[in-house]
Amino acid sequence: MPSHLPAPAPSTRYPPGSVVAVQLPLPIGGAYDYRVGEQFSVADGDFVKVPLGPRVAQGVVWGPAAGGVAESKLKAIISLLDCPPLPAVSRRFIDWTANYTLQEKGLVLKMAMSVRDALDPPKPIPAYVKSPEQPEIRLTPARQRILALMADSPPRTTTDIAREAATSPGVVKGLYEAGALTKVQLVPTQTRALPDPNRAGPVLSDEQATAAAAMRQAVRDDSFSVSLLDGVPGSGKTEVYFEAICEALGGDGQVLVLLPEIALSAQWLDRFRARFGANPSVWHSDLTMSQRRNTWRDVATGRASVVVGARSALFLPFRNLRLIVVDEEHDGAFKQEDGVIYNARDMAVVRAQLGAIPITLASATPSLESVLNAANGRYRLHGLPIRHAGAEMPDVKAVNMIKTPPPRGRWLSPPLAEAITKTVGAGEQVLLFLNRRGYAPLTLCRTCGHRFQCPRCTAWLVEHRLAGRLQCHHCGFHISPPKQCPECETEDSLVACGPGVERLAEEITTLIPDIRMTIAASDNIQSPRAAGELVRRIENHDVDLIIGTQIIAKGYHFPLLTLVGVIDADLGLQGGDPRAAERTFQLLYQVAGRAGRGEKPGKVLIQTYMEQHPVMQALLSGDKEVFIETETIARRDALMPPFGRLVSLIVSGFDEAAVDQAALALARAAPSGKNIQVLGPAPAPFALLRGRHRRRLLLKASKDTAVQPLVRHWLARTERFKKVRIQVDVDPMSFF
Ligand code: ADP
Ligand code: ZN
Repeated sequence: MPSHLPAPAPSTRYPPGSVVAVQLPLPIGGAYDYRVGEQFSVADGDFVKVPLGPRVAQGVVWGPAAGGVAESKLKAIISLLDCPPLPAVSRRFIDWTANYTLQEKGLVLKMAMSVRDALDPPKPIPAYVKSPEQPEIRLTPARQRILALMADSPPRTTTDIAREAATSPGVVKGLYEAGALTKVQLVPTQTRALPDPNRAGPVLSDEQATAAAAMRQAVRDDSFSVSLLDGVPGSGKTEVYFEAICEALGGDGQVLVLLPEIALSAQWLDRFRARFGANPSVWHSDLTMSQRRNTWRDVATGRASVVVGARSALFLPFRNLRLIVVDEEHDGAFKQEDGVIYNARDMAVVRAQLGAIPITLASATPSLESVLNAANGRYRLHGLPIRHAGAEMPDVKAVNMIKTPPPRGRWLSPPLAEAITKTVGAGEQVLLFLNRRGYAPLTLCRTCGHRFQCPRCTAWLVEHRLAGRLQCHHCGFHISPPKQCPECETEDSLVACGPGVERLAEEITTLIPDIRMTIAASDNIQSPRAAGELVRRIENHDVDLIIGTQIIAKGYHFPLLTLVGVIDADLGLQGGDPRAAERTFQLLYQVAGRAGRGEKPGKVLIQTYMEQHPVMQALLSGDKEVFIETETIARRDALMPPFGRLVSLIVSGFDEAAVDQAALALARAAPSGKNIQVLGPAPAPFALLRGRHRRRLLLKASKDTAVQPLVRHWLARTERFKKVRIQVDVDPMSFF
């Protein structure tokens, strides 16, 4: 979090003839100087068109000129774009983010203005009215219907007319060409209903009401504060922060809600609509260009009051942002791992501080960072320890896979298989959680032991039997399963090893042949619509059993779901990630939280070989405090975040020798000091990814070290190698 923020610079106007800095949304760090022409003046934040070499680029006025450009070389700003300026707080946020994450400022700006055409005013839409003088024409029934429709009609578009009059667009065109209709240009206007903060919400429980009142107060205080809403799944966190949203919507306030996977938030949107009587604006990568353009402009002009979005919504040009909510704040999906590498949860806190507004972080399993910030008083803690309406927390039990193993070649232990049969027999629903897409994670040759590996990545090819492929989950490489082993050429010698969701489905069918079952994995649930359909099928009880990866683990509320089975609880504990235990706990706790959310109590069975592991113990006892304590001590001893700071440097390229040279050069130039340690270079776990060879270095420093200047100087004094990329990841979350 920023501790010393510069005072907001007043927005200056620059008269014709002055020279200003213009930041362009390109991979460049600083702004370029341009002269203000004679026709107009500009101000900080204005969007402008400028010449850039032979091209024309759009950029933002970023302040007075840096200077140093010869008068004769200075080019003039071409024009001022007709759109609201980028607010000062957005500009400071971009500066701050670029500085903190050590990314090019232009690339951060690009996230704030990447929408093509959004900077131009909306294009007029051609429409028609009935001509005042009607020509003599042949009147077919279709033509008659159109002319009747248009008798006293306001202008309508071709599509509208064709639909209303039940004709084809061609008939409309014919009437226009004959002179019976006249063309006019419509300026598109937004007539969408806005969320209504004055609708009555549910009657809150005492605990919910206390938390809601505190959050409403935080909004009224109109200053920076962080609230951590820590409540068990189903305790009503969403209802509580909806109250804060109501408060912020008074006046012309705007609210931003960040969700980890907006494509999967169908239920959230339903609830929002039920509470506020209208849709929020949504922002995610699945939108069409025109949806993006409209939303961007609506946010900039203040017409959009609530925006719900994925990470990048944080960079929208809010005109009057009054509240930010980050739901499922612990979720790793908030970390953007490519392009500009940043953590949207952390940057959201910064954005709130820069804007002097409150922010709410909500989760049933807050990150250790947030828990400790609450413990030391930097964040305000609001706990919701019980489920709404007396629904009980599920009964969690371990299935010891050593004592009660599944039969050979199967993955369901006898106790879990029995529980499934019983639950489905009772007309209730089951969720089986297995975080492995496809049929089997590894295919090998029984004769020679050959394993199918991606030629471009350090990864096995995963069999997807439904799609008939062996597929790499990292680069998209795939082949059809061959008839014979490519190594020893033996026929029919390939075997699938380990389970994926498809294989588990096969096993379920042998257990209960007529079961109604569905698989929920990113392979078949790819859009908000697909997710919405899935949710409705589960809600309508069209399925008895769901086999899901992590996409089904979060947030959903299915009252009939009473049994959750975790197939391989130990899966996430492997590997050298310092957060492996925390992540596994969070994920399995969330999964378990899907059970028993209605009137019937839920049951959770966790298949594990490590019953004594602290993660399993915490899940079994339902006591996350003990887990947090153990985890805190472990991190403190290892000086891992949040007790120490980390920066990863990932060196990659297609030429392995050059990558090694570059990594060694970095190691030679590495900073040293009392509280600083540089580990590596070492081959990354994915030593090969999409054809690029990868090496990692890790800077470990004490909590009070300012790592950015350290890394900046380090990079500046390191010899660079052509065609080798160095990616900097400040506060890394993953170590692949
Ligand atoms: P969480 O976000 O903590 O998982 P939710 O806000 O999703 O919890 O609440 C779980 C369910 O209980 C939802 O269906 C929600 O509408 C309902 N609920 C929570 N609080 C109330 C309340 N005070 N009155 C009525 N329904 C409530
Ligand atoms: Zn690959």
